[in-house]
Amino acid sequence: MAAVETDRDAPSALCSEFLNFSAKDTAAKWLQVSNLPKEVYQHLACYVPKIYCLGPNLNPQNEDLLAPLLLQSPLEWYLCGEEPSVGLAKLEQNNQPSQLCGHVFKVGEPTYSCRECAADPTCVLCMQCFLGSVHKEHRYRMTTSGGGGFCDCGDTEAWKKGPYCQKHEPNISDSSQKDPLANLSDEMIARTYNVFSIILKYAVDMLTWEKEDELPEGLEPPARGDTYYCMLFNDEVHTYEQVIYTLQKAVNCTQKEAVSFATTVDRDGRKSVRFGDFQFCEQAKSVIVRNTSRQTKPLRVQVMHSSVVAHQCFALKALTWLGQIIRYSDALRRILCQVGLQRGPEGENSSLVDTLMLCDSKMWKGARNVYHQLFMSSLLMDTKYKKLFAIQFAKNYERLQSDYVKDDHDREFSVTDLSVQMFTVPSLARMLITEENLMTTIIRTFMDHLRHRDLHGHFQFERYTAQQAFKFRRVQSLIGDLKYVLISRPTEWTDQLREKYLEGFSAFLELLKCMQGMDPVVRQVGQHIEMEPEWEAAFTLQMKLTHIISMMQEWCSSDERVLIEAYKKCLSALTHCHSGFTDGEQPITLSMCGHSVDTIRYCVSQEKVSIHLPLSRLLAGLHALLSKTEVAYRFPELLPLSELSPPMLIEHPLRCLVLCAQVHAGMWRRNGFSLVNQIYYYHNVKCRVEMFDKDLSMLQAGASMMDPNHFLMIMLSRFELYHIFSSADCRKRYNRENANKDVVQQNNTLIEEMLHLVIMIVGERYTAGVGQVECFDEIRREIVHQLCIRPMAHSELVKALPENENKETGMERVIDSVALFKKPGVTGKGLYKLRPESAKMFNLYFHHYSRADQSKAEEAQRKIKRQNGEDSVLPPPVLPRFCPLFASLVNILQCDVLLGILGAVLQWAMEPSGGHWSESMLQRVLHLIGMGLVEEQQHLLSSAEDNDTNFNFTLKISRPGEAPANTPSILALLETLQNAPHLEVHKDMIRWILKTVANIKTTRECTASAPPSDSSGHSQEETVRDKDKAERKRKAEMARLRREKIMAQMSEMQRHFINENKELFQQSLEELDPSTSSTLEHSPSSCDSTLFCVGPRRWRAGGSDRRQVVTCILCQEEQEIRIDGKAMVLAAFVQRSTVMSKNRKRPPHNPDKYDPLFMHPDLSFGTHTGSCGHIMHSHCWQRYFEAVQAKEQRRQQRLRVHTSYDVENGEFLCPLCECLSNTVIPLLPLTKTSCSSEQPDLSQWLNITSLQMKALLSAHRKAKAADADGVDDMDGVNDCPPPDGFKLDYTPKNPYSSTIKEMLTTFGTATYKVGLKVHPNEQDPRVPIMCWGSCAYTIQSIERLLVDEEKPLFGSLPCRQDDCLSSLTRFGSACWTVSSHATVQNHFIRLLAALVPDPRVENTPCILDIDMFHLLVSLVLSHPAVFSLDSSGLSADTAQLHFLHLVTVAHIVQILLSSVPEEVQMEQESGGAEREEEEKVCMFYNTLRTHLGSGLREVDSGWHLWCCVKAGILPYLRAAALFFHYLNGAPAPPELHTLGVGEWEALCGYLCLPSNLLQLFYNNRELMEPLLHGWCSHPGVLQGLQSSVALIRFPRESNHLIELPGDYSALINQASSFTCPKSGGDKSRAPTLCLVCGAMLCSQSYCCQSELEGVDVGACTAHTFACGAGVGIFLRVRESQVLFLAGKTKGCFYAPPYLDDYGETDQGLRRGNPLHLCQERYRKIQKLWRQHSITEEIGHAQEANQTLVGIDWQHL
Ligand SMILES: [Zn+2]
Ligand SMILES: [Zn+2]
Ligand SMILES: [Zn+2]
Ligand SMILES: [Zn+2]
Ligand SMILES: [Zn+2]
Ligand SMILES: [Zn+2]
Ligand SMILES: [Zn+2]
Repeated sequence: MAAVETDRDAPSALCSEFLNFSAKDTAAKWLQVSNLPKEVYQHLACYVPKIYCLGPNLNPQNEDLLAPLLLQSPLEWYLCGEEPSVGLAKLEQNNQPSQLCGHVFKVGEPTYSCRECAADPTCVLCMQCFLGSVHKEHRYRMTTSGGGGFCDCGDTEAWKKGPYCQKHEPNISDSSQKDPLANLSDEMIARTYNVFSIILKYAVDMLTWEKEDELPEGLEPPARGDTYYCMLFNDEVHTYEQVIYTLQKAVNCTQKEAVSFATTVDRDGRKSVRFGDFQFCEQAKSVIVRNTSRQTKPLRVQVMHSSVVAHQCFALKALTWLGQIIRYSDALRRILCQVGLQRGPEGENSSLVDTLMLCDSKMWKGARNVYHQLFMSSLLMDTKYKKLFAIQFAKNYERLQSDYVKDDHDREFSVTDLSVQMFTVPSLARMLITEENLMTTIIRTFMDHLRHRDLHGHFQFERYTAQQAFKFRRVQSLIGDLKYVLISRPTEWTDQLREKYLEGFSAFLELLKCMQGMDPVVRQVGQHIEMEPEWEAAFTLQMKLTHIISMMQEWCSSDERVLIEAYKKCLSALTHCHSGFTDGEQPITLSMCGHSVDTIRYCVSQEKVSIHLPLSRLLAGLHALLSKTEVAYRFPELLPLSELSPPMLIEHPLRCLVLCAQVHAGMWRRNGFSLVNQIYYYHNVKCRVEMFDKDLSMLQAGASMMDPNHFLMIMLSRFELYHIFSSADCRKRYNRENANKDVVQQNNTLIEEMLHLVIMIVGERYTAGVGQVECFDEIRREIVHQLCIRPMAHSELVKALPENENKETGMERVIDSVALFKKPGVTGKGLYKLRPESAKMFNLYFHHYSRADQSKAEEAQRKIKRQNGEDSVLPPPVLPRFCPLFASLVNILQCDVLLGILGAVLQWAMEPSGGHWSESMLQRVLHLIGMGLVEEQQHLLSSAEDNDTNFNFTLKISRPGEAPANTPSILALLETLQNAPHLEVHKDMIRWILKTVANIKTTRECTASAPPSDSSGHSQEETVRDKDKAERKRKAEMARLRREKIMAQMSEMQRHFINENKELFQQSLEELDPSTSSTLEHSPSSCDSTLFCVGPRRWRAGGSDRRQVVTCILCQEEQEIRIDGKAMVLAAFVQRSTVMSKNRKRPPHNPDKYDPLFMHPDLSFGTHTGSCGHIMHSHCWQRYFEAVQAKEQRRQQRLRVHTSYDVENGEFLCPLCECLSNTVIPLLPLTKTSCSSEQPDLSQWLNITSLQMKALLSAHRKAKAADADGVDDMDGVNDCPPPDGFKLDYTPKNPYSSTIKEMLTTFGTATYKVGLKVHPNEQDPRVPIMCWGSCAYTIQSIERLLVDEEKPLFGSLPCRQDDCLSSLTRFGSACWTVSSHATVQNHFIRLLAALVPDPRVENTPCILDIDMFHLLVSLVLSHPAVFSLDSSGLSADTAQLHFLHLVTVAHIVQILLSSVPEEVQMEQESGGAEREEEEKVCMFYNTLRTHLGSGLREVDSGWHLWCCVKAGILPYLRAAALFFHYLNGAPAPPELHTLGVGEWEALCGYLCLPSNLLQLFYNNRELMEPLLHGWCSHPGVLQGLQSSVALIRFPRESNHLIELPGDYSALINQASSFTCPKSGGDKSRAPTLCLVCGAMLCSQSYCCQSELEGVDVGACTAHTFACGAGVGIFLRVRESQVLFLAGKTKGCFYAPPYLDDYGETDQGLRRGNPLHLCQERYRKIQKLWRQHSITEEIGHAQEANQTLVGIDWQHL
């Protein structure tokens, strides 16, 4: 209680003090005192506890009002020396702001980076700067900010081009180097200095204060009460639910309050959950601690004295105030920086800034946020102090990181997160490396945190506890820092930079040493491994380091001296690791084909082998870089190559590749999935650049320095294949090895892999430094090979290509040179297709192909070649030349060992395979031979330049084996194989080889004979000259031939291209041909006579027309639709709808009390019925549905899984098309009617009807009175005698069979249940009303759809809608038979009373509040209940026509009352034809005015009125035409089957109406006048006309989804400024836009949950119930994803209508390409909505993807 009192008293107590307080005087006093700090502290000690923390609620509003007046104002007075508003304005005026934008990003705000000009991806612009920058026209990337970070506009180091936007463009005149302090007076500087140092010190003291019950010296309050707070702190260990649950227990609060507490704790980092005396708070604390200490460490709770909390609150305000003050002037900002960084009394690292940083991890989130913000707006905005701050940051780096690793808050709440702001600035990064040795510091700190090592000093992640794993994740942020430091390569090197970089490089090598050989594996034989070993941590590390390793190499490559030094260091580190690699291994000698080599015995399949070899791979990278340098070309002897031992270099990479081969061969199956995963990542695009690719390079480097025969023998030995090829009779393998089939098979795979490796070693030359290529050749080749598989979308290509540290693949620069872009249609993506001429680069054995890729690409390429009528052979492509250091690699192709291997395989292939060779093996051998030939051709072509033609592959393969074996030559073998029947598939390749050999031989003979035989006799000089001449001639000739060949190829390609397109063109023509698609079924059967659909003269079906036979989809039996037959039903889906609503603000009706008899013209809630059109027997359907129910019950018991449909609510999927359904509509035949010729006219009929009504009404009243025991007075209920032939007591016989009756009830009840959202009750009087309403609403919505789709009224509906509408209307006319007749009669009486005012009927709405089409339908459909009593020979058709006429007149009145436009434009004169209508309508309007007087504006343009009536009534007439068409079966006239003129006349004719509708009035004037008077005198009419609420105007326009902006970033921006409506100004995490009404919602969040029908639901679900009657269409702005919701349990995601330039959506906004609205796709979504297909779409999506079913959609 005490708490409450203080809360109330406090303001009044303060009021008097506040009145007496003068900020000016206080400031004046302060100017005089000698000890200012003491004075200010006294002031704070006195006032802070009086303003802050007086009640249980922290931060009530009065604090924010009082603090500026009592606390901040005196400070400002002191600082300015005058009225603050004046002083600060002056400061602002004199300020020369820096060019930095510095806009700090909010969570979710869009940020832009230029992919062409940004120094690195962390350089971003705010939206405003971006729109004013040059980058708008560049290739940019758009992302949403995670909060924090600021706009880099104006930072010249952040942008290669265009660093300023228009707004921040500097004036050339102003000298940016000028000291901002120069503008300030010395006194001002001194005062500012004083204030800032006191306040900053105060804030730092308070925020870092750890005592709960005491205050720092000088701040102790004068009076101290027993008031405490129980403060709960945030941690990242406990879940929301745990905290909420605990709080409810501990402080006795409601769940709502607990949620609010938890939300605040999560956001601000702390929240007081209880206020009161010490005991009271202590008690809550102990409950919380006890309740949360079970599983983990308990929640942190402190009981703090209110004055401590008060000062902490003000400390935060003070920091915010400092941030605001320095915005006025750069000079103030500089002073604050100076104060902050000034060294404190404790010496180094003791400034206030240091103190804050070093206490960072001890502070709560809110405090950290505030001071980080201040740092950002002060230290980081001042170029001079940014540098000083960076130095302090670097000095404290190790401590800060250690604190961060121990802390449990996310990195965005840690001061370490500021690293990006400094380290990415190239000049700062360079300075920190050279002066603070930052690189080494980061790497060493990182190493320090990973202390677990095994015996060999490798990292060991195997036995990590959860806590260590958590720590490991946090440590990884250090790698991010290292990346920032390295991200921009130096353009100039100083000696100091070289020294420090190499020092850092050495530290890095130490790190790699710990990884070299980590996580080794040993092949498991016998038993399967018991536990999958840990492998992910090591790969995580490798993946994180991938870009670092690449960047290290790039740095090295930019300076030759650094490169050579780094190479030496790396080599020595590697040697250190593997110095003893021969230790313990047995030396052996291998010999083959007359060569021998010494090596060691080592079997990958038996000993330890590791995939992690970062040191070897780094060396491989550096080796390739060295090879590119000048030195390598000119003085290779200067390089440290002599220190290399090639066998040592290749050993470990080779083992790793053999491991992969053996895994492929199935030898490591027992080692489980961890190994399979490792191999997968080794080749994966994320890792391969610094793993697989480098291993290959290393083998190339090693092999290039070895005798190729030696290299191949070692390779064979490591592949454990040496024994196969080394034996003398290896060519007879099939004779020897049949013993173990598995082993043979394994060896076959190993041979294939080994041959593939040889192909790659010789053939992979697209790495700069290995082959003579530019860096873009490499990426171009990657793209070509991806597109050889199939055409791909941009994003697919991006995924297949390695990204660099800037997330760029470099693809955009080259893609157009190799591919053509094809735009997408309404679905699908844009695709890149390979240019035909690029296919010549295709290499079947491209090293990045998986086996699956390879076979797909092979198939695709062969197919294309066949289509072009070419030979389908895929020979090896022509390759670029090797760089000199690698040049000797080609000799592998012609070395004896390889030829021996090739010969052996060819020999095996002489016999059909019995398992001793494989097709792939042979294919690889042929490919290798092909490579040799291509290489030789290239050598011959270029031999002119460097007469070095010792590459003579043809010679080698023509040579037979030596004695004693005398084996045939490879060429001879091929010639034999050419005709072997079992080698059909390889024939084209063998033929190609033989042809090429022949070509080469011819060329060689030419060149050999070209210099003629006169080599003797002539002088040396002359010979040389002749030779030169001949050579030039030959070259010219060669060149000419080549050109011709290319030209021929090009024209060939062109021809193919045209042919291909022709085909395409023809195809699309065929699709468009109307004769193939359209049918003639819609033409009406009788066409001469006028067709009427209503009235006594209406069209009547003959007997054969009426007969209708259908087939049941379940039992396939045929069945005729008969009144007395078995019931046939259509699967149907009934749903509530607001699609046509004109008033989304109308609250949903109370389902129990709502009277739906009259639909309001705003159509706010309707019931829509749709169907897939599939027909079943009712009993077949019932059996099916029971089976579904039973299955569902079993499934729910067993699995507790949801389905896409809700059986309990009667939902099921159509058994044929799986369309979501929730009921069935019975099919009914057309009713038989006859017509007697004499029918009463309107007035006669009305007389008869009114007599009938009177009689009925009195009969009903009597019955009711009898029920109520005759208490009611019988006044006015005189007995009315019924007219002739009207039998009140007659009960008509129900004509329908029992199954049809049952189905009538089923569908009626379903419509009632869904439409009103009530429990089913077939007795409810509202059942028939809901059925009529659904019929009317569905017809209206289809009429709208046809208008929107610009389709004719008849003939364009799909069958299913046609069937649905016809059964729905016929059902409507029959549904009264299963209801209480009296009820339906009563409905009819009430409906009619709305048209023919009847004083005995109460609560009749005025005609402005009635939707006339609904009224018409209800009248027509309820009339049979009355009509059935009549036997006087009246026709039902006559009644229908009269209803139509009456309602039409009423509608005209309604339109004239509500829809005449305000502004009457120019009078239009029209021809005589319309003249009459105009006059009539004018007269009519004036009649109305006489009834209503001033309520109606004066309009005298008849033309206008007539236009207004015509336009307003058209939808009604169209809907009526549909209605009567389906009800009575009359075919529609041909004019209504087309769009265009004549519709009006055709409609009126078809509906039996005069085309001048006013005649309906004037022809029956005596009758109509009183009706008109009755309508107008309804009090509702005048009220409606005078009310401020706008009337519904006719025609009602179709609703459409909201307009979306063309540029997606506009939406992001809109969403970023959206705040949660419930938690007071907080950013919403998932802002979601309702596409129906445009409301922005705070989705998927606790704060905006609300209760709906007893369930907690998220903002979206809650919104759908009001806005969409349960159905919703949203755009999740942060995700760029459309969300469909239906009910509380159903939902799915849908592709957004925004596409990037590559024709792709970006769900999740991961790629960041600019997105633009695609109107077609948006229209498609709108169409789904308008045709009520959203729920169906969700059903299909959920059936297709079961994971969607499990999502808690209601929480969105
Ligand atoms: Zn900006
Ligand atoms: Zn700017
Ligand atoms: Zn740019
Ligand atoms: Zn059936
Ligand atoms: Zn179906
Ligand atoms: Zn909405
Ligand atoms: Zn919210």
